[in-house]
Amino acid sequence: MDINCPACHNPLNVINGTAHCATCDKAIPIEARCPECHKPLEMLKACGAVDYFCQNGHGLISKKRVEFVPLSA
Ligand SMILES: [Zn+2]
Ligand SMILES: [Zn+2]
Repeated sequence: MDINCPACHNPLNVINGTAHCATCDKAIPIEARCPECHKPLEMLKACGAVDYFCQNGHGLISKKRVEFVPLSA
C-alpha cells in the first residue's frame, strides 16, 4: 500500500492503523477504507494485531488490500 505524507509527500510507515512520517517526525491521521466500496472500515484491535472490517457486506479486509487515506487536519 502506498500512502504519502500530506505535508512533505514522502512515503509513510503505516503500523497498526497509524501512519508516521519520518521526515516530519509526526503522526499522520489516516482513515482505512474498503477497496470495494471505499467506505471507512471498522478497526478491530485484538492481541496487538489490527483487523479491518467492512460493515457494507465485504467482511474482513486484509491489511494488504485496505486503502489508507490521509485525513486533512
Ligand atoms: Zn511528512
Ligand atoms: Zn466494503
